[in-house]
Amino acid sequence: METILLLAHTEADGSFGKSVREALHVAASLHKGLASSKLVVGLIGENIQAAADSIAACPAAKYFGVAGAEFAQARYATDAAAAEAICRAAQATVVVAPATSRFNRCLAGVAQRLGGRADTHVTGVAAENGKISVNRWYYRQRMEAAQQRMQRPWFMLIDPGSQSPCGCGGGTASVEMVAVNLTDTCRRTNVIGIREPKADAQTIRPDAQLLFVTGAGWTKKQADGQTHSPEAEQLIRGFLQASRASLGSSKSLVDQSGEGQAVLPFLSHLNQVGQTGATPRHPKGLSTCCHGEEPHTVGWRFIAERRAINLDPNCGWARGKADVLYVADAFKVMAKVNELLTT
Ligand SMILES: Cc1cc2nc3c(=O)[nH]c(=O)nc-3n(C[C@H](O)[C@H](O)[C@H](O)COP(=O)(O)OP(=O)(O)OC[C@H]3O[C@@H](n4cnc5c(N)ncnc54)[C@H](O)[C@@H]3O)c2cc1C
Repeated sequence: METILLLAHTEADGSFGKSVREALHVAASLHKGLASSKLVVGLIGENIQAAADSIAACPAAKYFGVAGAEFAQARYATDAAAAEAICRAAQATVVVAPATSRFNRCLAGVAQRLGGRADTHVTGVAAENGKISVNRWYYRQRMEAAQQRMQRPWFMLIDPGSQSPCGCGGGTASVEMVAVNLTDTCRRTNVIGIREPKADAQTIRPDAQLLFVTGAGWTKKQADGQTHSPEAEQLIRGFLQASRASLGSSKSLVDQSGEGQAVLPFLSHLNQVGQTGATPRHPKGLSTCCHGEEPHTVGWRFIAERRAINLDPNCGWARGKADVLYVADAFKVMAKVNELLTT
């Protein structure tokens, strides 16, 4: 009999992030698909009761918690100790957790301590004939594998954005607190602050409906033989402000910014989409002034509807990589789009 543990940590305000509800959806579906399995929840955070109450209507049989000031911040030693203690108390055989940076850092280590195994970047979990399998992508999202494991406990870190969040309601959860013995060395590391871009300079928005990708064409000479970088910046910024889209980029444009020819001062390597960049998840994507080459478009694996604007009717997007290609001047199209969005 499998004991499925949904393992979660709270955010700074004591609530759960969306990725917890996505992982809970996976854990509850797995529980439903595995006859005689048990679903339990484990929570880590400074205060966990409000978060536990927020999902109290889920089909979990029991709640375990580790709480206290030491568990407020993300820190390998305390997070690993808390997760280990909960897994032992719950006697978990399958641990489903959101692949947050906090859990990505520590859960492989916890699996090692418990003699288990961990799979990261899981995008699907299924149960058939009593056997569990997980799906994940390899070779920069070019190949998808379905894997099974005999080893327990089996840790599954669910990629945020890959699942629909569970809609279970709240109530009152009775949480069994688990004691953790922390030595002084566990408290050596402290988070002393968070540095992040100002809200209006934050261009990466994982929850946005649209991924807007800019390519090197924005900086190339146009029909009049001139480059038009200031106009490009104004059009791109204007569109991001009006649409609240997330900003992606091709490698070429990111590299140019790194070399000091900053067409978009707020563009960094973090915006790069592709083989050596990110693989974001959004319902829609619009690529502009980008050729659609293979190393770039492998990063579009999880974009549901893809559109592109390119002057070249033979660009990569035209060869099956976009659902819709507008053969048009992106400067003109985006000027019109911005006008429509702001009037
Ligand atoms: C090992 C390896 C890994 C790589 N990893 C990545 C990666 O992770 N991500 C990535 O992006 N690339 C990656 N690359 C590079 C990739 O192969 C391409 O070189 C790069 O994506 C090209 O960027 P681009 O399309 O912006 O530029 P370009 O190839 O220069 O294309 C610019 C496009 O803009 C169009 N254009 C110009 N003006 C306009 C206009 N007014 N309106 C509309 N269209 C216009 C042109 O027609 C052209 O198609 C990798 C390469 C290698 C070898």
